Amino acid sequence: HVKQNGGNGYHFFSKELEARSKQRLSLEMDLRQAIEHQEFALHYQPKVWTATQQIMGMEALLRWQHPKKGMISPAEFIPLAEELGLLPSIGRWVIIEGCRQLARWQQQGLPPLKLSINVSPQQLKDKSIITLLGKAIEKFSLSPSQLVIEITESLAMEDSTANVELLHAIKALGVDLSIDDFGTGYSSLSYLKHLPFDELKIDRSFLINIPNDRDEVAIVKAIIAMAQSLDLRVVAEGVEEAPQLEFLNKLQCEVIQGFYFSKPLPSKAFAEFVLSHKQ
Ligand code: C2E
Ligand code: MG
Ligand code: MG
Ligand code: MG
Repeated sequence: HVKQNGGNGYHFFSKELEARSKQRLSLEMDLRQAIEHQEFALHYQPKVWTATQQIMGMEALLRWQHPKKGMISPAEFIPLAEELGLLPSIGRWVIIEGCRQLARWQQQGLPPLKLSINVSPQQLKDKSIITLLGKAIEKFSLSPSQLVIEITESLAMEDSTANVELLHAIKALGVDLSIDDFGTGYSSLSYLKHLPFDELKIDRSFLINIPNDRDEVAIVKAIIAMAQSLDLRVVAEGVEEAPQLEFLNKLQCEVIQGFYFSKPLPSKAFAEFVLSHKQ
């Protein structure tokens, strides 16, 4: 290439940059149309009580089925959607679709389960999420305590009065609040104590090498002890192997989520999983 471009390396790089920005632009245009074209779906991953292995609920995880590129991971498109200001409207769809599905499952005779919904920083800057949650609860005749809002630690701990007020307003609806990816941020114990959380999810990165890695074991033990002293329900995410489960059970970590039980499933497969699981 260098020779063809007459030794002009800059020319080569600018072509590559141009290709990449074109790619991004086309992804951006596709994302703007994805809601209209109904390309989003929710998959559901079971959350299981550690001690009894009964199903406690499920986490709704967003999937984008791109017509040409196939399934695109949320890790890829959520940051882009957020940057483009599209996440609030996608997030509204997630809340409504999740609640509709939960109500459908109840009508089909599934046991009462808790639905966890991930909420982005942008959504929490806007008070309209309170109204939306209230309306969805009413429209689908749900009990508010059947909903759990998951907020990543970094955001939950952002020390802004507006944020804290919004957390209290969500809590006042009767909805549970959960700190997601705990351990990846810098929250202090005293600060946490003043926030209205019900649940804490230990980030998967701390659980990969338990029970073999001494440092990870120490960290996980400390997180669980702290959560218990604050009366928070502790959830371990990303549990894949039986030894992890046994270790977490011994430490009385209440809830497990991970491929050990199930990957996130389309709604129909999730219902089949629940019905075939001994309760
Ligand atoms: P998260 O909320 O921490 O969700 C858990 C992620 O861990 C999911 O990835 C899930 O598939 C994955 N996971 C669960 N168990 C295991 C396991 O045993 N092993 C491994 N390797 N992975 C496991 P996913 O579905 O790719 O979602 C990634 C992130 O995207 C989520 O992390 C969440 O931050 C975000 N996200 C997903 N759906 C939504 C949504 O509707 N709204 C918003 N704002 N964010 C979402
Ligand atoms: Mg989550
Ligand atoms: Mg998480
Ligand atoms: Mg995570």
